[in-house]
Amino acid sequence: MSRKKLAALLCVLALVMALPGQPQTAPAGGPAAVTVDSPPLVALTFDDGPRSSTTGPLLDGLALREVPATFFLVGSRIPGNEDLVRRMAAEGHQIGIHTYDHVELKGLSRGAFDLQVGRTRALLTGLLGEGNYWLRPPYGLIDRQAEGWCGGPIILWSVDPEDWKDDNIDRIVSAIVDRARDGDIILMHDLFPSSEQAALRVVDALLAKGFCFVTVEQLMAERGVAPEAGREYRKIPLPEK
Ligand SMILES: [Zn+2]
Repeated sequence: MSRKKLAALLCVLALVMALPGQPQTAPAGGPAAVTVDSPPLVALTFDDGPRSSTTGPLLDGLALREVPATFFLVGSRIPGNEDLVRRMAAEGHQIGIHTYDHVELKGLSRGAFDLQVGRTRALLTGLLGEGNYWLRPPYGLIDRQAEGWCGGPIILWSVDPEDWKDDNIDRIVSAIVDRARDGDIILMHDLFPSSEQAALRVVDALLAKGFCFVTVEQLMAERGVAPEAGREYRKIPLPEK
């Protein structure tokens, strides 16, 4: 087994052993009580794809490390990339909606909203079947009306390395690894080779620091947070003790 796979396996074991938010102790009468805390969790998320030249190698790297991520797809990029989208789902990644044409959702009419979000949901349902296709609004902007129409939680982020700004992989990696804390939702874009390479370095660095990677949906489930339609989520930390 490779060291990368071993790190991912240890993560899964730690998650299985730890109840969400609660230390677990050995049964009375057994050996000295051992406290197992839940490992720190982070969710890596990718917007604006799919793009075969970058999303493909990213999926290869995530598969090698057995790390799940969450992809918020632009609907207009799905035709021609159906195999990539099926592969995401088959490999355990979460898939969400980032509008059809990457437009700002603020101020849209109901008809325009449905063309952007409903049309993308219909594409995903046709490809993958019924599912929870959560929404990430482009630029993180949404208004009250659109919140009411989206029918699921709105996933924002708590760590933004601005990976679109330049292709400086060292800068992007540091901007994430130096800031990542338990419960963070990390924003990246699978449109650029630099982002894809930085993301895999981030995975290796955070696994080495004891973090576990989960999808946004898994992060909420691990923390006992029930997703509410129309509500914004930026970070899902452990509840205060
Ligand atoms: Zn975007």
